[in-house]
Amino acid sequence: MAARPILLYGDPRLVAENRPVESFGRDLQDLLQEMCESCWAAPGLGLAAPQIGVNLRLAIVDLSVGKKPDDVVVIANPELVSSGGVRRIEEGCLSIPGLYATLARPLRVTVAAQDADGRRREIEADGTLAQAFCHELDHLDGILLPDRLRGLSRYLFLLRLRWARRRWPAVREL
Ligand code: ZN
Repeated sequence: MAARPILLYGDPRLVAENRPVESFGRDLQDLLQEMCESCWAAPGLGLAAPQIGVNLRLAIVDLSVGKKPDDVVVIANPELVSSGGVRRIEEGCLSIPGLYATLARPLRVTVAAQDADGRRREIEADGTLAQAFCHELDHLDGILLPDRLRGLSRYLFLLRLRWARRRWPAVREL
């Protein structure tokens, strides 16, 4: 399996509807391997399937960025069960390379999801892991960093984004 290119902001597949994962067979295992390779190559802490052009409700998070393969958390068909606390924190996105935004995220979350074999479980997370889950859940709903900003910070982020995109390969406008 090889890393696939990560789609950049403005690609319509990042905001397309994502279908539930229904089959947990060989094809899904291959896709997960490709997602891991793509995430590690970037490198990033997590990746959602739509970021490599596969519109499924599927994401991975790996705070070790490939150093500890056992640390990869697969979340298929995830749902936010509960969240608590709030903090403002800097966040980036592999689909918006080089830019960071400061936004509000919960301190703690509980996420219900299926693993790579389709087993349902609930995962409690705090800190960076909670933030990463929130970021990937957003991707599965077509929500990107600027959508989490308001007012002046949104305006300034979009301005910086417009400049940054001049150095990106051409993507089709939304
Ligand atoms: Zn992202």
